[in-house]
Amino acid sequence: MAAPPLRHARTLRRLARLVAERTLPRAVLIGRGAPDRRRVALTFDDGPSTLTDDYLDVLEAAGAHATFFVVGETCLKYRASLLAIVARGHEVAAHGYTHRPFPSLAAAELRDELKRTSRLLPPAQQRPLVRPPGGQVSAGSVARCARAGYTTVLWSVDSDDCRTNSPSQVIANLAPQRLGPGDIVLLHEGQPWTLEALPPALSALREAGYQMVTVSELCSRR
Ligand SMILES: [Zn+2]
Repeated sequence: MAAPPLRHARTLRRLARLVAERTLPRAVLIGRGAPDRRRVALTFDDGPSTLTDDYLDVLEAAGAHATFFVVGETCLKYRASLLAIVARGHEVAAHGYTHRPFPSLAAAELRDELKRTSRLLPPAQQRPLVRPPGGQVSAGSVARCARAGYTTVLWSVDSDDCRTNSPSQVIANLAPQRLGPGDIVLLHEGQPWTLEALPPALSALREAGYQMVTVSELCSRR
């Protein structure tokens, strides 16, 4: 059978995720938070980077807290940036050690990726979170992460900032009318266009009454 066109492949992946999110316990997989309060979680993948401090300044100016899904190898390179994320009140969580897709790894390799990354991060206050690189999951990889004690975190709104380098497009993708309470928003660290989009995008969200919190805060019952 011929491979489905890209658009259909993305739709199928989204459907598979929706089914997984509705059927798996929230300790195993989260795709969005409870819609009971006007809160969203901003998540930044792939850091730390040379731009981390600038991202942190923008978040502080907007009164926002976020979750940074960091890559183990990159944490070694930008240790000070990793510490700055934590010192400034944000959450750090795992995004693989080498950024290889989890479904492509043998069970022992995936365990090793999780363990090596966790040694670089501060101890989690609650069940640790992991975002699989590229959001790529299989039933097996999600189960292996859960057995290792991790909750897999996907997202419900994609800023698409890895498919465009236009700040105005990222701003449009984060417009308040495209978001709802409980949404988990995918963004990426280390990208000048994302950094440029953040101040106007975050101030629009704030004006629309949204509080920007970490994934753990969004999913806690407090
Ligand atoms: Zn990534």
